[in-house]
Amino acid sequence: MTECYSQTRMEYMTLGLVLSREEGKEADSTLHIYTREFGRVSAISRSLRKITSKLSGHLLPGRIVSVRLVERNNGGWQAVDAVSLRRMPASAETLRFLNFLINTTSLNQPDPELWEKIHELSIKGAVGKDEYIKIIDLLGLGGSIARCANCGGAVAYFMPKDIMFMCRQCFLRSLSSEDEAVNI
Ligand SMILES: [Zn+2]
Repeated sequence: MTECYSQTRMEYMTLGLVLSREEGKEADSTLHIYTREFGRVSAISRSLRKITSKLSGHLLPGRIVSVRLVERNNGGWQAVDAVSLRRMPASAETLRFLNFLINTTSLNQPDPELWEKIHELSIKGAVGKDEYIKIIDLLGLGGSIARCANCGGAVAYFMPKDIMFMCRQCFLRSLSSEDEAVNI
């Protein structure tokens, strides 16, 4: 008896914001993209570093892209085609925003409202304190009601890695880097 194992791999086109890109072995790269349809996804892309790769210039952190994703057997994704539509300014502020999203969002959990906000901010090109608080609220982390985790004082910083709020004094005392914190 023979069985047919031929599978149609599902392909999707979606809009997304490229959050990070890590060069892997050979010429492969691992990307994190916050997408409209699937939330944050981890996707590999083959041969991004080869000069001939037309994907390479498009799949860069801070780019809003129209990307074609193919489901992989392990539940991950592969980016097979992409066109960048817009770029956020290449600044420390943008990098902070991208890292913030990597640390606070879950893989493969779509959130249309959050996507709308991300999309809007990518057009604006900057993320202010009020917008961070709105996003932290959207994520269910209580940005507008939070108090300092250490002393209960008024919040001045959010630490995306630890999902923790701090007041100005406790933040300064913690000797954390401004790069690891979001001013809110
Ligand atoms: Zn404090």
